[in-house]
Amino acid sequence: MKIEGKHKCEECNHEYEWWHQVTQENSGYLFDVETVPKNKVVVNTVVKAIKKNGYRIPLEVNAYCPNCGNFNSINVKVED
Ligand SMILES: [Zn+2]
Repeated sequence: MKIEGKHKCEECNHEYEWWHQVTQENSGYLFDVETVPKNKVVVNTVVKAIKKNGYRIPLEVNAYCPNCGNFNSINVKVED
């Protein structure tokens, strides 16, 4: 399962797409490992997450800006 979105860098205003692979709670390894799209930035850290259907759904993540390298904090919009 993947979560992705767009974020505008707070430092340089560059808009980029970020990408995150959601892991299942009780598994030691990843199922359905997905390939990261070339033009997307992989999330560096999950700051806040909620548990839902055995998954850790992120609410806040950190990802580096591909343009200036700024460490951005991103609020994730969770859809039901
Ligand atoms: Zn930037």
